[in-house]
Amino acid sequence: MPEGPSVKRFQLLTAPFVGQVVAKVGGSSRQRNLKDLKAMKLQDSQASGKNLFLAFGAVLEAWTVSGSPAPAIRGKADSGACSLTLAQEGQEADVSRLSPKEHGVQRKQETELSVPDASHAAGDTWKWLRFHFGLFGSIRANEFSRANKANKRGDWKDPVPRLVLHFDSDSFLVFYNCRIHWCTSPAVEPASDILSPEFHRGQALAALRQPMPICYTLLDQRYFSGLGNIIKNEILYLARIHPLSQGSLLALSDLESLLDHAVQFSTDWLHKKLAGKGLHYQIYLKEKCPLGHEVMQETFGPQDGFKRLSWWCPQCQPRVPPEGNDPKSLKH
Ligand SMILES: [Zn+2]
Repeated sequence: MPEGPSVKRFQLLTAPFVGQVVAKVGGSSRQRNLKDLKAMKLQDSQASGKNLFLAFGAVLEAWTVSGSPAPAIRGKADSGACSLTLAQEGQEADVSRLSPKEHGVQRKQETELSVPDASHAAGDTWKWLRFHFGLFGSIRANEFSRANKANKRGDWKDPVPRLVLHFDSDSFLVFYNCRIHWCTSPAVEPASDILSPEFHRGQALAALRQPMPICYTLLDQRYFSGLGNIIKNEILYLARIHPLSQGSLLALSDLESLLDHAVQFSTDWLHKKLAGKGLHYQIYLKEKCPLGHEVMQETFGPQDGFKRLSWWCPQCQPRVPPEGNDPKSLKH
C-alpha cells in the first residue's frame, strides 16, 4: 500500500480543489452516502501517515460563519433555496475569513479548552472522508489512469475508479483502489508522522528502544505513521541494522542514525515523487546489496500482528545480539 510520501503527494494533488463545490459524483463505489457529496464544498485536505482526509461542508455554512452574507442572499437561504447557484455566488464572494488551516487550529483550540459552544465552530459541521489506499491505490487530478499492461486474459482494461468527484470548474479528482469512510475528525497526529515538521524524535527514539525486533517497531503506525515496508527495508540497510536486532540492545548512536535515515529517506522520496522521478532501491527486492553481498529475504512480524517481507544483507547488517544469543533462545 502507498507509504507516507505517496499519500502526501495525493494530498498535494487535492489541495488546489479546496474551496470548490462538487458538481457530480461518480465511480464504482456502492456506498450510497457518497452521493451526498454533491453540492458540498471541499473544505480541507490533510494527510496523516498512510491516510488522506478530505473535509466537506455545506456551502451555506461557510456563509453563516463568515458573518456578513449579503441580506438578499440570506433571504434566499432562509427560504430554503440553498441551491448550487447560491453556492457559486457564495464562492465568488469573500466566503470565509478563516482559512481551512485556521478552521483546524480554532477547532483544535476549542476542543482542548472544552469550550461549551465549540459546536458553533465552522469545522464542527464538516464531514470528513478518510481514504485508506490499497496496494495499487492512487489519486489522479483531471485525468484517468490508463492500463499500462494487459491483464491475465490479455485485455487492456483501464482501472475502474472507486470515486470520481467532478467540480464546478470542469476539473475532477479520481480515486483508485481505496477504502472510504466517513469520520468526524481527521485524526492527525503530526508528532508520529515521519513527514511532519512536528515529528517528535524523542518519542520515536523511546519506541525504538523497546525490547523487541526493530523491524516490528518501525512498522508500528502509532510511532512511525507513514512508514511502510519499502522505507523499513531501505533505512535498516542504510543504518546497517539487522531487521531482527533488539531495539533495547542497540547503541543509541545506531538508533539516532536510523531515525535520521527515516526522516531523510521519506523526505527525499516525496521530493522525487513530486519531480516525477522513481526511487532506486538499495536492498528492497534485491538479490545483491550495493557491495555485492548476497541478500536474505524472510517474512517477519509480531506473533499476533501483521507480517511483512524483509530483505537484508547479513554482512552489512550484523544482528544484535548475534543469532542464537538472544534472550529467548538462551532460555532453552
Ligand atoms: Zn552487504
